[in-house]
Amino acid sequence: MLNEKNSGEMMYKFIQKLFPICRSITGNGTRKTLEIISKEISIQTFEIPTNTQVFDWTIPNEWNIKDAYIKNQKGIKIIDFKNSNLHVLNYSTPIQKNLTLEELKPHIFTDPDHPDVTPYRTSYYHENWGFCMPHNDFLNLKDEMYEVQIDSTLKKGSLSYGEFFVKGKSSEEIIFSCYICHPSMCNDSLSGVALATQLAKYIQNLKNQTNYSYRFLFIPETIGSIAWLSINKNNLKKIKHGLVLTCVGDSGNITYKKTRKNDTEIDNTVIDVLNNSSKKHKIVDFFPTGSDERQFCSPGINLEVGCFTRSIFGEFPEYHTSADNLDFIKPEFLNDSFEMLKKIIEKLESNHGKSTIKNNIKPKKFSKSTDQVYLNLSPHCEPQLGKRMIYHKTGGKISEEVQIKEKALVWLLSYSDGYHSIKDISRLSEINLEILKNAANILEEKKLLKLI
Ligand code: ZN
Repeated sequence: MLNEKNSGEMMYKFIQKLFPICRSITGNGTRKTLEIISKEISIQTFEIPTNTQVFDWTIPNEWNIKDAYIKNQKGIKIIDFKNSNLHVLNYSTPIQKNLTLEELKPHIFTDPDHPDVTPYRTSYYHENWGFCMPHNDFLNLKDEMYEVQIDSTLKKGSLSYGEFFVKGKSSEEIIFSCYICHPSMCNDSLSGVALATQLAKYIQNLKNQTNYSYRFLFIPETIGSIAWLSINKNNLKKIKHGLVLTCVGDSGNITYKKTRKNDTEIDNTVIDVLNNSSKKHKIVDFFPTGSDERQFCSPGINLEVGCFTRSIFGEFPEYHTSADNLDFIKPEFLNDSFEMLKKIIEKLESNHGKSTIKNNIKPKKFSKSTDQVYLNLSPHCEPQLGKRMIYHKTGGKISEEVQIKEKALVWLLSYSDGYHSIKDISRLSEINLEILKNAANILEEKKLLKLI
């Protein structure tokens, strides 16, 4: 049996093991991560070949990297991948070149708002190369020649993911999903992986005596959940409840992000457990940015999957930077998250077969003259906006103006299910109606929305 007091320590040690690996949405770092998880629980691993179509997306080329650096004129490495894998723009194409500072600058990514840390940046679907560094170091770069080297490969291969399944008394399933694609960051990504692994061990120890069957997904974020949902689209009916686990090791209070349906058994269960815990917590309504709940709750999939975090993604300054490190998370907070999840499971188990909640989104009548209602024409997961040139190219952080425009696109896609008018979407998202109307025009032009 698991020694409960040590669960936090075990998860922390597990994160320590995974932390140094350079992960991405594909490649050997992800495989190594799955291999380490498989030493704890016997996961089944899968490989989806490059160019496989998964709903609106295509599995990209596989990325691997051995080394990367920038040397100054004296031959001294001023940026070294071996010190931190965050120094490389994730998915960088290979390069070996001597460049002036002016030529180098467009390939350097910094975060002026947090000038002492290295930001995490990605470029999965737009070929580019680059380095990330603290903004203050960037300001100190001398006007001289630099030798740039990225020893990476981007070629046909596959996307890897893992699954762990524990059969219960019924075939009805609860899924826990976490993502294995972030390089060296702890709270975002790895804390969820450690918690899912620990929960999997806990469920396994219940020796098939649970009412539900349990499925744990270890997938790369976004493309991984889209791929998993596409491959398993005929088995989704079995999934009754689910939670995405991420950012569960920091000192912040627990936050629960509700499902898109907004009033489901998993929502009520988590909220009840949190309310009874006497601990401070936060409940937030669903919003269509964030992690893989975006895909699980997309209108064509519409599963009852919420998101369990402590400090929610994007709302802590360490998010997507080198400061999300082993000092930022603590065993006691990991353990607290684990204990809360056990209570949630216990309650779901005891309510099995008793829930009276049926369908939550009621058809609504709209006044055609005043209310525009759109229908998402690509409702199975998010459509890939990047390939239609209506989404930013570099992942990690974007300007506020772009953020609002893109937010309008994803809100429209998520809620254009025939039950929400553009005014409803404006009210829910707090996005100005005019911005939404402009975004709706763009989506109509791209044949992703139609007025009904
Ligand atoms: Zn992230």
